[in-house]
Amino acid sequence: MEDCLFCKIVRKEVPVEIVYETENIMIFKDIHPKTPVHLLAIPKKHIQSVIHVEDKDLPLILDIWKGINKVVENFQIKDKGFRIVVNTGKEGKQAVLHLHFHILGGQQLP
Ligand code: AMP
Ligand code: ZN
Repeated sequence: MEDCLFCKIVRKEVPVEIVYETENIMIFKDIHPKTPVHLLAIPKKHIQSVIHVEDKDLPLILDIWKGINKVVENFQIKDKGFRIVVNTGKEGKQAVLHLHFHILGGQQLP
């Protein structure tokens, strides 16, 4: 079992406000929102980062894309615009080593 914060969130050992969930993915509110809408989309499977995605994981990435499309609609930022950020590795300042897509919006971004 992975000793990883987001794996604990997947196992519901750490509470978060889940806004979208399927068998394979989860989207929840970031605990320290940097914008009015700040969500994190993750695969439930532990994948360290974008460079660790294998061919067999591609259906999960497609599910994340579908989930993002759904939540940006629900949070009414689909047409206004938003930003997807994926910090990767040390110099990319990835703090949690479980692949995640930041969804940022709800204001004019710099
Ligand atoms: P990163 O720096 O790209 O690895 O992003 C990690 C993100 O996880 C940060 O934006 C944190 O605010 C967020 N985060 C850390 N702990 C939690 C938590 N318990 N629940 C929700 N989001 C969290
Ligand atoms: Zn993990």
